[in-house]
Amino acid sequence: MKIAGITSLEDLPRICPLLSRYGNPQYGEDETRVVEVGSARFGGERPVVIAGPCAVESEEQTLRIAKEIKAAGADLLRGGAYKPRTSPHDFQGLGEEGLEILSLAREATGLPFVTEVMDTRLVEKVAEHADMLQVGSRNMQNYPLLKEVGRAGKPVLLKRGMAASLCEWLGAAEYIAEEGNYDIVLCERGIKAYPSGEYSRYVLDLNVIPAVKLHTFLPVIVDPSHATGVAMMVEPASRAAVEFGSQGLIIEVAAGGRCLSKPQCDAAQAIDPGTLRRIVDFIHAREQIFAEREAV
Ligand code: PEP
Ligand code: MN
Repeated sequence: MKIAGITSLEDLPRICPLLSRYGNPQYGEDETRVVEVGSARFGGERPVVIAGPCAVESEEQTLRIAKEIKAAGADLLRGGAYKPRTSPHDFQGLGEEGLEILSLAREATGLPFVTEVMDTRLVEKVAEHADMLQVGSRNMQNYPLLKEVGRAGKPVLLKRGMAASLCEWLGAAEYIAEEGNYDIVLCERGIKAYPSGEYSRYVLDLNVIPAVKLHTFLPVIVDPSHATGVAMMVEPASRAAVEFGSQGLIIEVAAGGRCLSKPQCDAAQAIDPGTLRRIVDFIHAREQIFAEREAV
């Protein structure tokens, strides 16, 4: 019996004729579409590292973190100007001022930036500033928003809904592609599962990385910060993600470390720039080993 609304991976060529490897054989079996943002290449030679604060809180904070993550070897800056918060009484982000601060940080460091857009009415404004638009986990199935970002002419970072199946996630990406924009990077950011919240924020679904690669040619990255919610877990989760084939990482960093700067948002998961540097060094060292092996 087929239950209405329930999909399986066999349905993917029908749900995603544009993005499924079977529906769209334009890309070879192991081939990934390369999505370029400035000089960063998602799906390119090595994993791309995005880092920055959870939220843009001030010019001073964002510029400081931007410089620190640049020095640590990050490729892109992240930072929320519009924040999806559980309580409307919590800090909601600086809005347009946040976008201007991110633009200043780009000028100061040369790093392109990605920032979240939650509202169809703000897509044009955010796209005027940002190098890449982020659709957050809570909005993965906001279909009008997906269509609007698909028309905005900027690469899109599409986070996985915290309870989304692979079919639903790729179906969401298909809405963006349907508007003519194939510059989509998928991001696994942890899912709600049995132990969520007991010792970590979500459950990092590493298994989905090879599955994504099997079914679509879009690059996939991992957010170890929201997936774990615990600063001490971010470095090992980053390494594990890269070992599983992740083509990038998006990591929350606090200037000088979270104890010193006390971020207003997601403080418990923010790592210090020194830890970020170790993660970047791990990626480079790993690439080096593979390059040397290939040369033999
Ligand atoms: C974020 O990256 O700032 C964020 C809110 O993440 P998510 O949508 O994955 O919760
Ligand atoms: Mn956050």
